[in-house]
Amino acid sequence: MTKRRILSAEISHETNTFSVLRTDLDDYLRRQCYFGDEIARHMSGTATEIAAHIDAAKTHGWELIPTVAAHATPSGMTTAETWEKLCDTVLGGLDTGPVDGVILALHGAMVTESSLDAEGDLLARLRKRLGPDIPIAVTLDLHANVTDKMGELADFIVPYRTYPHIDQYEAATEAAGLLQSAMDGKIRPVTVVARTAALDGLNHGRTQEGPMVEALARARKIKDADPAVLEIGLCAGFAWSDLAEAGPSVTVTTDGDAAKAKAIAAEFAAFIWETREQNTVPLLSLAQTEAKIRSGPSGGGPLVIGDTTDNPGGGGYGDGVRLLETIIASGNRNAVLAAICDPAVADQAHAAGVGAVIAISLGAKVDPEHYGPPIAANARVLALSETGAFVCDGPMWANMEVRLGKSALIEISGVKVVIASSNLQVTDQQALKLFGLEPATFDVIGVKSSHHFRAAFQPVAGEVVLVDSGGLVSQDYGSFTYKHLRRPVWPIDDITG
Ligand SMILES: [Zn+2]
Repeated sequence: MTKRRILSAEISHETNTFSVLRTDLDDYLRRQCYFGDEIARHMSGTATEIAAHIDAAKTHGWELIPTVAAHATPSGMTTAETWEKLCDTVLGGLDTGPVDGVILALHGAMVTESSLDAEGDLLARLRKRLGPDIPIAVTLDLHANVTDKMGELADFIVPYRTYPHIDQYEAATEAAGLLQSAMDGKIRPVTVVARTAALDGLNHGRTQEGPMVEALARARKIKDADPAVLEIGLCAGFAWSDLAEAGPSVTVTTDGDAAKAKAIAAEFAAFIWETREQNTVPLLSLAQTEAKIRSGPSGGGPLVIGDTTDNPGGGGYGDGVRLLETIIASGNRNAVLAAICDPAVADQAHAAGVGAVIAISLGAKVDPEHYGPPIAANARVLALSETGAFVCDGPMWANMEVRLGKSALIEISGVKVVIASSNLQVTDQQALKLFGLEPATFDVIGVKSSHHFRAAFQPVAGEVVLVDSGGLVSQDYGSFTYKHLRRPVWPIDDITG
């Protein structure tokens, strides 16, 4: 029997359309961008969707057609040129002969210079070549902005169910199983997407407590009770992508029953709206953060501070220095911050060498008007790394190699700071261990991350707090000028009911 041929691809980018930056192919190559046969060499055995595609091909006896596995750190819009190149690479997989199915790992909040709904655009290009009958299964980030177009063109949409996102492999394995059932003719998927007038909700998607936990439990119960309900996907949305359909959503797939899908979607949409104001982790101001450092964590172990509004994982520039300033002001000298992205300071440190003292102007270089002023200080160079490469050993992206780029550990006023050349959300203890630091021995650890860091750092933390350092990923949505967002929308506009 000839094997089924399945096209596989990943194009993953969470786009903060308020960023002054653009994302090009080099940004993908710095983070993760592999083509064809090199994909399996780099990604087999990792906690990723692509690794699940590779394993599903073995489980189901598919011939996998790997095309591209591209993921860039969240940032501004992907350039039109890079988008064409990535799409052409995916569609090029169809030139190798007819396929029986497609499995895609997409983020779901990607905006390009040429498309507000990049995922919908890619699906439309695939449908144009494939027609309506070849099944397409898609996995999405839990923070996807799921558009109606995505729901219409994909047969299955399976978002992650964890935040931190430690079930990327499992989500893609589930999508592969649904794809197999569709190709076998056992199911006839009908997918419906629903959203509300809320831009924010589901407790930012946190799966430790709050409405997202309740919604996921309810979804599981409905699925377990009714085999005709194939998937209920809950996405918290990504408010910093300016498109009409941004915000939390529910995606329901049933076996041939559109009315049932709509009814279930309506129930969850009502829940999303009713619980929109529930937020279990309030942000501390910088003054409150300084006081917290002085008073110390509630439990034994370091106080871990997530610099949520400068989180590179939300499109923050990663070169904000207000949290570092606050740590220095607190007087605590057993403290470390990772990582400030400042290639010029990394170059300076490398030129001077370990042990040297350098006069630096640190941070606030991408958007000085918003992020300034920089910190002017003398810094001692403690350690250097040419590539800043490390293999994640925490639960998120386990076994994947990521890179800080040319990087350094420096000390400013007694506080240790990791300096990177590639903007990278710090989600893994290896970002510190790379420089010989043992996270558990610090009083204070600052990380450029909102929530993903908890997967690796919560086990050693005495307490975790989040700070609003005035960065780009602000939750004051009224401070942004949206051009495409549907209106009225909560919480920007006054909506009653
Ligand atoms: Zn996410």
